[in-house]
Amino acid sequence: MSHMLAINDYDSLDPVRADCNQCFGLCCTALPFAKSADFAFDKEGGTPCTNLRSDYRCGIHQDLREKGLKGCTVYDCFGAGQKVSQVTYNGKDWKSHPATAEEMFAVFPIVQQIQEMLWYLHEALALEVTASFHNELRVQIEECERLTRESPENILRINVPELRADVNKLLILTSDRVRSQIQKKSPKKTRRSDFIGANLKGTDLAGSDLRGALLIAADLRGADMRVTDLIGADLRDADLRGADLTGCIFLTQVQVNAAKGNSSTKLPSYLKIPAHWVK
Ligand code: SF4
Repeated sequence: MSHMLAINDYDSLDPVRADCNQCFGLCCTALPFAKSADFAFDKEGGTPCTNLRSDYRCGIHQDLREKGLKGCTVYDCFGAGQKVSQVTYNGKDWKSHPATAEEMFAVFPIVQQIQEMLWYLHEALALEVTASFHNELRVQIEECERLTRESPENILRINVPELRADVNKLLILTSDRVRSQIQKKSPKKTRRSDFIGANLKGTDLAGSDLRGALLIAADLRGADMRVTDLIGADLRDADLRGADLTGCIFLTQVQVNAAKGNSSTKLPSYLKIPAHWVK
């Protein structure tokens, strides 16, 4: 399909891929989580997880699911961890510089949100069908990049909802262009967004707008989900075994990791089949 990412463009997503080796364990420290099906215990924001080692790596990384910490396996900072650690704070960690800790933990989730926007913008820029507004996409990418490289004080002042609204205009335009490729008449729109536990086995959803759809535990086995817009869709425990998601846009590894699937699930080639799908 002509709208799909060209193979050379996958590299453009590298700056928005997490590099835990360059991070001061920020997601495992700054963020809170509550005891639930996803987390085996409570943790307050700004407090290091008891499983975080002194080298800022997780001590139970290989066993997270078995130990009731599935939530940790579906989190993605989109490269915010290494950017805050190495750029905003110039490689000075919060243990050696405790006076910066509180501020660093407040800066991290803001940069994470902008890095996620950058992921989508880079994805949009890599598509041929968006050629007529590549300049606008580049300008928005530069603006997001600039903001993430500001001082901590300035990052804390960023109006994230306003920035998101600007980015969203370009992402919606991208979605319409991409999906109209498969729907020759008019892009398929699904008014419904609540599909929690729905039986969608084998359903033709190709070209659908599934932005923010609640697909929690939906049965999507063998569904045709090609060229769908899945931005923000909640795929926790959705059953994607045998589903075809070729050419879908704005799908992230986090969403995929939260779903169930198998080796016959077809994903966009810039995403990986999660290890727990094939165990
Ligand atoms: S269990 Fe591991 S990945 Fe999860 S928060 Fe703790 S240190 Fe981080």
